[in-house]
Amino acid sequence: MPNVMDSVTAVKGVGHKKAELLAKLGIHTVADLLTHFPFRYEDVSIKSLDELEDGQKATIAGQVVTQPVVQYYGRKRNRLSFRLRVDQAVLSVVFFNQPYLKKKIHMEEELVVYGRYDMGKGQLNGFKIFNQQADDNDVEAIYHVTQGLSQKTLMTYIANALATYQLAIPERLPYDLRAKYHLISHSDAIKNMHFPESEEKGVEARRQIKYEEFFLYALRLQWQNHLRRQVGNGAPIIYDNQQLKQFIETIPFELTKGQKQVVNEICADLRQDYQMNRLLQGDVGSGKTVVALIALMATYLAGFQGALMVPTEILAEQHFASLSEFFADTSINLALLTGSTATKQRRQILADLKNGDCHIVIGTHALIQADVAFDNLGLVVVDEQHRFGVKQRQQLAAKGEHYAPNILYMTATPIPRTLEITIMGDMEVSKLQEMPNGRLPIKTAWMRKNQQAMIDELLREQLASGRQAYVICPLIGESEALEAQNAEYIYQEYLEKYGHEYHVGILHGKMSNEDKDAAMNQFKDNETQILVSTTVIEVGVNVPNATFMIILDADRFGLAQLHQLRGRVGRGEHQSYCVLVADPKTDNGRERMRIMASSTDGFYLSQQDLVLRGAGDYFGTKQSGLPEFKLADPIADQVILETARQDAQQFLPILLDHADDYPQLSSWLATMRADFSA
Ligand code: ADP
Ligand code: MG
Repeated sequence: MPNVMDSVTAVKGVGHKKAELLAKLGIHTVADLLTHFPFRYEDVSIKSLDELEDGQKATIAGQVVTQPVVQYYGRKRNRLSFRLRVDQAVLSVVFFNQPYLKKKIHMEEELVVYGRYDMGKGQLNGFKIFNQQADDNDVEAIYHVTQGLSQKTLMTYIANALATYQLAIPERLPYDLRAKYHLISHSDAIKNMHFPESEEKGVEARRQIKYEEFFLYALRLQWQNHLRRQVGNGAPIIYDNQQLKQFIETIPFELTKGQKQVVNEICADLRQDYQMNRLLQGDVGSGKTVVALIALMATYLAGFQGALMVPTEILAEQHFASLSEFFADTSINLALLTGSTATKQRRQILADLKNGDCHIVIGTHALIQADVAFDNLGLVVVDEQHRFGVKQRQQLAAKGEHYAPNILYMTATPIPRTLEITIMGDMEVSKLQEMPNGRLPIKTAWMRKNQQAMIDELLREQLASGRQAYVICPLIGESEALEAQNAEYIYQEYLEKYGHEYHVGILHGKMSNEDKDAAMNQFKDNETQILVSTTVIEVGVNVPNATFMIILDADRFGLAQLHQLRGRVGRGEHQSYCVLVADPKTDNGRERMRIMASSTDGFYLSQQDLVLRGAGDYFGTKQSGLPEFKLADPIADQVILETARQDAQQFLPILLDHADDYPQLSSWLATMRADFSA
């Protein structure tokens, strides 16, 4: 029985050499090959000469009326030419450097040629010759290929794969939905992606497959949500409310109304015996950490362990230091686990986590390594969650021994509603709408490089009144080494200018972890007043006395990133300032600087970022945690996404009640279930 999961070498014509080339395109199985979709179609319908414009690419059919001749000139260069009678006219046809085509051209025979029409010369510059019997479609698919693997070969493989496997392509949609939208079968849609009769059929197939992708994705999210909500699966965090209240009393500031509200939401959810899956959204500086702290405390009081995962070591160190302070008068045993934890210490921490002696662990990706195991993990907090991939977030959550641990994701990067649904499914969302009391909005100015004198004046004013400042080095991106070198250079500059009055520090990715910690601690303790830094401080860093930030070449950053960076100031009672230094060369760059200087609203900024940079840039790489679809684009195809989501919502109860009627989908979800509980 042919199975689409067969190796691609099972396809007729695919040998081991070519399989290696296919692997470069990410094609390993027959299914991979069949879903290696074209990125556009070429119109190859046969045209008559009088409908052609000069320079147009078109397919022409005619009768060969002269013998083909190949002329050689120079080394290796040659020209094949002949004449073709098309309707009542005679057209000269030339092919450059394809002498082997000569054997396909025979006097008096009909020939179909694709090429570019040169009206002035009455000539067609041919690209290829079609085999008349096989090509009765009006369009031809164009694929991404790789060196050594031509369009033609790839198309042959796909045609061969379809010949053997088309009937083996499983259906993806329930029949009712196909009927509702007049959709064709999945296997026909796949066929039409590659060999559409017309451009329209190709476009329809594309839309159908996008819908299928969204539908299946949404169905899976809702299924997971359903499983999660099944009673008894989650760790019930039953804590002593009095004790928690007493702990909250020891926090040196009064929680804002918003913080109290989200703490209540989270704690109510934690007490349930199904798994919590909640996103805490709050703009930069809104005070998410203390909310996590209270949730972790509740978890501890209920006799469970907690874990807090963050994207950078600097942030892990910082959270460890501040949580140590908050928990100083408790008997909580806190640990810090990062990539640079010494082997011996790491071994001890792993042992303590396993036997339950360690109550709360704070760390980086080091937490999701295979040998990290817990005694009874009850709560996982993922800070700056947008910096982790979907897999990474799930890996930590999978470390629960007896229960699926409760999960709290935290982020300052707000996402539009539809995307939120796509990424998060129907997860609960808590929002921190307000900033802590007395917080003044950061004043932002955009200045040109030649206004340095003014910038210095502002900086001196802040330093003189006892405040501290960040100087953010330009984003170079090519390498961390270059970035470090540049940071050194800027550091020297500031040292010369300010060194005799103030202490200047430096922080970049190439420094050892000890040096990084030292630099961060010195700044925190106000031993250094100016910190020259790369974007390593982008997320989470909290030094409330720092009120001034200079961002060099600010136009190289995206708005969302600038907002994160700028969020390092304005974290205390004092008025804070941010100076964007940039001479942008494009309108887009200038527009971004204007927007940045005029708004401190993270939600607005990230939407503008989306508009100005497009989804790809906005979310960066796979880091973003956006699911990967073959064709569907959650931003461009929002309408399809919303339709598919609603359909999935209506269909899930039907599927749950009549699993036997949908064997394909049921078995597919059953494998999902394995993923989910693994
Ligand atoms: P973020 O949401 O960006 O992670 P943090 O949790 O780091 O923000 O909090 C920013 C600063 O605000 C910290 O110095 C924190 O101690 C302080 N803070 C948080 N909540 C309050 C509050 N209710 N009143 C005063 N300061 C607060
Ligand atoms: Mg934070």
